[in-house]
Amino acid sequence: MNDIAANIKIVQQRIHAAEKNFAKPAEPITLLAVSKKQSIENIKKAAEAGLYAFGENYVQEALSKIEMLPQLEWHFIGAIQSNKCTAIAEHFAWVHSLSSAVIAQHLNHARPPDAAPLNVCLQVNLEQSSNKAGIPPSAVLELAQLVMTLPNLRLRGLMTLPEPSANFEEQRKPFRQLARLLLDLQQAGLPVDTLSMGMSQDCEAAIAEGATIVRVGTAIFGERL
Ligand SMILES: *Cc1c(COP(=O)(O)O)cnc(C)c1O
Repeated sequence: MNDIAANIKIVQQRIHAAEKNFAKPAEPITLLAVSKKQSIENIKKAAEAGLYAFGENYVQEALSKIEMLPQLEWHFIGAIQSNKCTAIAEHFAWVHSLSSAVIAQHLNHARPPDAAPLNVCLQVNLEQSSNKAGIPPSAVLELAQLVMTLPNLRLRGLMTLPEPSANFEEQRKPFRQLARLLLDLQQAGLPVDTLSMGMSQDCEAAIAEGATIVRVGTAIFGERL
């Protein structure tokens, strides 16, 4: 077994252990392999080890990988520039990092009519003090309702990227907040089902709070170049 296949096994065991410890409902958690700055060879190894969903942050870098491996499911998880919306809408199955109405309209307009609707999560910035990407919690409902009106987008849920913390209880707090925001959307009648949260260092805490997609890079591929 190569290193990547061995790492994937370890990550899958971490996910299963967390699901068991926190008695999560039976819906399977998607392990999204974050392959930014990883070679096509490494991505192939992860696919051969059974992974299907891959996350990329940089459009230019992603396009050649997608061209070589179009059978995989590609998720865009990086900052979205408006001049990249067409490429994103044409080549990805998911966007996790939607944080503006204008970008939502561009993606909707650029999604090819013969493709399935683009799955989208809204990126939420839960740390009001930081200037990180994402919308504040108070803006979630309005953007969610706008996305619901766009026929070529399918609103799936919420994503967040919190400040790293070494403490498990501290790690859980922003994930719990995001889960509550998803519940608010469900109670407002929106058909959302996805919490994209948790990375190499904190996927157990995210699973404890109901993550449905964990985005894991380093723990699968090792340090990025
Ligand atoms: C890079 C990245 C990840 C993966 O982080 P690791 O710590 O390598 O697991 C997850 N989500 C986003 C949005 C990222 O940019």
